[in-house]
Amino acid sequence: MRAKLVAANWKMNGSFSLLDNMLDVLIPYSGEESCQVVICPPNVLLSSLKKAVEGTKIEVGAQNVHTEISGAFTGETSAPLLKECGVQWCIVGHSERRVLFDESDEFIRNKTETLLKHGIRPILCVGESLEQRESGNHEEVVVTQLRKGLSGFAADDQSRCVVAYEPIWAIGTGKTATPEQANSMHSIIRKELESLASSEVAEKIQILYGGSVNVENAKILLTQSEIDGALVGGASLKIDAFPQIVAAGS
Ligand code: PEP
Repeated sequence: MRAKLVAANWKMNGSFSLLDNMLDVLIPYSGEESCQVVICPPNVLLSSLKKAVEGTKIEVGAQNVHTEISGAFTGETSAPLLKECGVQWCIVGHSERRVLFDESDEFIRNKTETLLKHGIRPILCVGESLEQRESGNHEEVVVTQLRKGLSGFAADDQSRCVVAYEPIWAIGTGKTATPEQANSMHSIIRKELESLASSEVAEKIQILYGGSVNVENAKILLTQSEIDGALVGGASLKIDAFPQIVAAGS
């Protein structure tokens, strides 16, 4: 049985005071009975988050990492430094990084490798654009991103990854994939994981859904057989929404 995981992607939003206020409400929702919870705030908040969640079930995530571990890469953050800040998880392959920062599948795969080497669990995002879905290419696009993102890793390393299926047309748009659309793509992803790794590894890997998850749709999405959790953007910044989404996954 795979545990449910609800992860917050704050993107370039949030503040020290939002972190304090969110944790005041969220910590009581994140007890023994709760699903796994990960918060991925901007990097400057990581150390404060780490301190504040000590002794709770909430875990610390980053939104990005560089492939190299040091050097002349102005503005970037290395995996060892993230680790020092207490980071346990890191998002890679988010469509905003793929599209706005031109990140290739190969670069994303190399980031995943760097994270695994430094004991940080990758949340590998995959997902198709509206055009790709409408032209019927969505399955091929997602399977290719997955294959390239996880290529060349040992089974043990693959099993430490989490996959997030995030159709681009559903991110920040208020348009959610139907539970059936999401569940069906998750089944395709799991089948692909079986051939990439093994059925044992595929059975272990959590596959999250992301794309306009909110308080209203969280329960139905999170109770689909193939949906093991959610990656939440906009609603993860709302104190009256994110704790309830965690409750829906618990
Ligand atoms: C995201 O950016 O990962 C995301 C899922 O955003 P939203 O929930 O706002 O659609």
